[in-house]
Amino acid sequence: HASVTPNKAVMEVLSPENCDAVILDNGRTINNFIDNKIKELDSLDNEPFYVANLDSVFERHHRWLTNLPRVKPFYAVKCNNTPAVIQMLRTLDTGFDCASKGEIQMALSLGVTPDKIIYAHTTKPGFHIKYACAHGVDLMTFDNEAELLKISQCHAKAKLILRIIVDDSKSLIRLSSKFGARLDTVEKLLERAKELGLEVIGVSFHVGSGCTDSLVFKQAISDARHVFDLANLLGFQMTLLDIGGGFSGREDFQVKIEEFSEVINGALDKFFPPESGVQIIAEPGRYYVESAFTLVVNIIAKRVDMDHPDGEENSSNKMVYYINDGVYGSLNCLINDPAHTSVTPYLHKAVDSSKQRYWSVIWGPTCDSLDKIIENYWIPELEVGDWLLIDNMGAYSVSITTTFNGFEKAHIYPVVTAETWHALNLSHTNGIINE
Ligand code: PLP
Repeated sequence: HASVTPNKAVMEVLSPENCDAVILDNGRTINNFIDNKIKELDSLDNEPFYVANLDSVFERHHRWLTNLPRVKPFYAVKCNNTPAVIQMLRTLDTGFDCASKGEIQMALSLGVTPDKIIYAHTTKPGFHIKYACAHGVDLMTFDNEAELLKISQCHAKAKLILRIIVDDSKSLIRLSSKFGARLDTVEKLLERAKELGLEVIGVSFHVGSGCTDSLVFKQAISDARHVFDLANLLGFQMTLLDIGGGFSGREDFQVKIEEFSEVINGALDKFFPPESGVQIIAEPGRYYVESAFTLVVNIIAKRVDMDHPDGEENSSNKMVYYINDGVYGSLNCLINDPAHTSVTPYLHKAVDSSKQRYWSVIWGPTCDSLDKIIENYWIPELEVGDWLLIDNMGAYSVSITTTFNGFEKAHIYPVVTAETWHALNLSHTNGIINE
């Protein structure tokens, strides 16, 4: 472990018992860690694994604070519920967006306090609401009358956020067909909340996941202002605006957080200036974790399909590989996530670029032919036992994985460099992060 003197609070949160993170000291890098892990596994069983780069989560958080200083992030646990990720974010003092009793339970069990949780689901089972109530989670969203009735029975003292429909047409995953109140219905809903004696304190929206156009935030924030005005007229004390998620976590995505920030900060200053006293939060998921996870898989089987059995044209052979993780496991994004429909595996060992290439197909391990990773992939010949790496595997992957066909979930190794560990300690010691 690192030779820095750890701050007690940080040590507790990121201790091996709490989140199992490995601290990379003496200049060791993540690549060194992967090399060593592969060596270790080569002599045991070649199971797939993830490396979770907590430095990346840390850096993204600082990028968020720099770009959106008025917006407090409530990380969307659904996106990746790895305890080490939650612990890292807890250390960084973010809030958490939980969507169910199970997610609330998990966050609480990791030491998140109830005041740092928003139960951001507009259609909740009644007993999940009761659980939230019993555990002091008061902040929750709604978008319909039946939900108001349920909340009045299960958690009458809840602090409610009205989720509105916004334009999600520019996002890779649209949400507005399922969630959100139409603007022409909000007045009635607010009146109903008043009749039931419920406390509405804010407005939320979600532009859809994988948003490709920053301008949708401008209209959404302006619409939220309209709802604030209506609610204020009805006598509600409106104090919170929640601008949802939607920000990609990939470096190669077409719109970066910097571009979103420009639009969001401008709209906030216009419609919710600091002197309005309104607290602004967001529910980013992908943004924090997408690029932090690398999946490492092993080739477990191979077949050479000969197009020319006579052997005159060797280069037209088609290589067929099978790896030990697939669409029912870590790579479920290929069938579940419209924002992540392809992956680009690359070889762990060095290959000579002049090596003969072949059209190749890579399959997952299960008996289902839907379990295909990539086809028409023009790569040098691979061998059984070779390792492949796949980047950007942190969003909506580990939290959706199944064990179909008896293939176990890939183990997750969270790592953090000594420098980041040191920086975390320093910021706590200097009181930059509240404990
Ligand atoms: N909040 C809610 C209510 C969501 O439904 C989602 C994703 O579906 C998120 C936040 C996180 O979105 P993203 O990962 O796009 O930031």
